Amino acid sequence: MRPNISNTNPADEHPTLSIVVPAFNEQGNLSKLYTELDGALSTLYMSWEIVFVDDGSTDDTWNDIKSLHNEDPRVRGIRLSRNFGHQHALIAGLSNAVGDAVISMDADLQHPPEVVPLLVDEWCKGNKIVKTVRVDGENISVFKKLTSKLYYRLFSYLSGVEIQGGMADFRLLDRQALDDILQFKEEGLFLRGIVQWVGYPSSIVKFNCRSRFSGQTKYTFRKMLKFAWHGISSFSLVPLRIGILIGLLSSGIAFVSVFYAILSKWVVGSAVPGWASSVAIISFLFGVLFAFLAVLAEYVGRIVEEVRGRPRFLVSEREGVGQSAREADNAMSSAENTNFRP
Ligand code: UDP
Ligand code: MG
Repeated sequence: MRPNISNTNPADEHPTLSIVVPAFNEQGNLSKLYTELDGALSTLYMSWEIVFVDDGSTDDTWNDIKSLHNEDPRVRGIRLSRNFGHQHALIAGLSNAVGDAVISMDADLQHPPEVVPLLVDEWCKGNKIVKTVRVDGENISVFKKLTSKLYYRLFSYLSGVEIQGGMADFRLLDRQALDDILQFKEEGLFLRGIVQWVGYPSSIVKFNCRSRFSGQTKYTFRKMLKFAWHGISSFSLVPLRIGILIGLLSSGIAFVSVFYAILSKWVVGSAVPGWASSVAIISFLFGVLFAFLAVLAEYVGRIVEEVRGRPRFLVSEREGVGQSAREADNAMSSAENTNFRP
């Protein structure tokens, strides 16, 4: 049975379902997304809101959100003061949504609105988290399919947190799970990993990913690499530990070489020739050393970010999102670590 289905007041302050949509330069997509969502949600007979998060767009995205809000007060919007990135925009939306269940999805219609009722059905069966897995069709490039599969296999191996290839930020979170997740004050919160980590009864819905309706992807190759590294360094210390392994291995090789050199000089009577080989070995070891210093620096950088405790996002304008949400922002946007005392 669906909870609270009688409550369908158009401008309900406490809707049952919230849809959170981060949008960065998505002017061509929002009204189409709204129309399709409106159609899909009307089959549910439950009150709903859509929370668009304008992540510092430079096109007409914010004006589109405002006019959609004027047309239908169930459409609400927050505008971030600049581009904070997809994950932070998502957290901004999740902390401003007020529904008993909150669904996050992309603005470009790659996450099909007709799948939303299926997620809600799974929630009504008692699942606190409903994840989605993309069924890779021709709309997804071979490169994306392959990198996604390889990355999540590596991620699961390094972190012990199982994520399937093709899982994205299209999911439903029950209020209880969402409130728990919003307690995590990490600056670099990796939602895909945290959602697995928190547990709770969950289920998976498969969907056919559509192609982007309008505009271009905002995830450049560089951004994808950054995101991938962010995920691994949030969940695993294995890259640091690889340094220990390689250190031990290279010390072993060095020890054997010294032993061999001494043995050839004093037992056989000839010195080991080879300036070139020594330089090659030294250069190789320095290379390894610097590579691991870089890994270490990355983790130290993460610590600095966490300790600074800057807000994860700043909201510059709101449309239909009230004072209570403003208080939520202040609490949720802070990445302050309460255990840290300078
Ligand atoms: N997005 C965002 N801020 C960013 C980059 C992306 O809010 O800095 C939003 C974007 O508008 C879209 C979603 O995140 O709604 C996913 O981005 P995109 O479709 O470009 O990624 P892809 O599907 O190509 O991986
Ligand atoms: Mg997309």
